[in-house]
Amino acid sequence: MTTLHLTHTAALTDFAPPWHPERADRIRVIEGCLERQRFAALVREQAPRVAHAALHRVHDEAYVAATLSGLESGCLSQPDGDTHVGPGTLEAALRSAGAAVQAVNEVMTGQVRNAISIMRPPGHHAGRARSAGFCFFNNVAVAARHAQAFHGAGRVAILDWDAHHGDGTQEIFWDDPTVLFCSTHQWPFYPGTGAACEHGEHGNVVNVPLPEGADSAMFRASLETSVLPRIAAFEPDLVLVSAGFDAHWRDPMAGLDFTEEDFRWATGRLLDIADRVCDGRVVSLLEGGYDLIGLARSAAAHVEALMEPPARCFERAAEPAPEAAPVPNPAAA
Ligand SMILES: [Zn+2]
Repeated sequence: MTTLHLTHTAALTDFAPPWHPERADRIRVIEGCLERQRFAALVREQAPRVAHAALHRVHDEAYVAATLSGLESGCLSQPDGDTHVGPGTLEAALRSAGAAVQAVNEVMTGQVRNAISIMRPPGHHAGRARSAGFCFFNNVAVAARHAQAFHGAGRVAILDWDAHHGDGTQEIFWDDPTVLFCSTHQWPFYPGTGAACEHGEHGNVVNVPLPEGADSAMFRASLETSVLPRIAAFEPDLVLVSAGFDAHWRDPMAGLDFTEEDFRWATGRLLDIADRVCDGRVVSLLEGGYDLIGLARSAAAHVEALMEPPARCFERAAEPAPEAAPVPNPAAA
């Protein structure tokens, strides 16, 4: 079984002014790493355009229509304070969501073991009817809904370890007991949501806010104690990852202190659970990550872990856990 890798040259267009952190070089540096020999076993495919029907499962019809026409005509130049638009934005956004759908198709039908999409723009801040934080369409939500609608997935779990809370994803699945949304993120911080007391209508939202400066031990302890047991108990048919890498210590957009090895470890632990509950079905989608070195190293470690055969993941799980650190809860402070 193999790991599918999806990307497209549409992600190599800059939509925003040169100073903007969400830029094409993010994709270039990751793809540069993934061309190395140790990634030769990846199954490489071009990200297709998403079908509009897949967007309608997540977003309001009027929002989809306005966004598509606005991006196409160029009228939608800056839909919110952070999110810029330029020539090529529409093509990239359609293929970023399309990669999510294609990844689900191949993982759910057993053509590949798991999949990684290295596309932009990211998606986890996009809500049902709003763009935000560089995001137009919520790619991970589109993937979850597609898995349910087309592949009969009853339950889908999402792990979002981006430094920023996935407010759009939380909004979309807030009242849906068939989707478990788990997030570790810096808090208080942009976008302002993600307090530990936000549980969703059916207890299907798990937020683990981390204070500025939270390090590897705190990240790993938060996953071991609050997130991974919930995903295992949920017994999902598919696990999705909102794989942002702006929690890396080098990243200028956040104040967390993780390393690339944390993302390798987290990926391995998640694969262990996925192997037990859903035949290893994992689809990972790039979200944030703005320091090019930290981003490339983190994404490479994540993809390497996705490519490891299951036996190695189990061996890694048998290793002693890192020293547990108490997980602070700013909401309770
Ligand atoms: Zn982020």
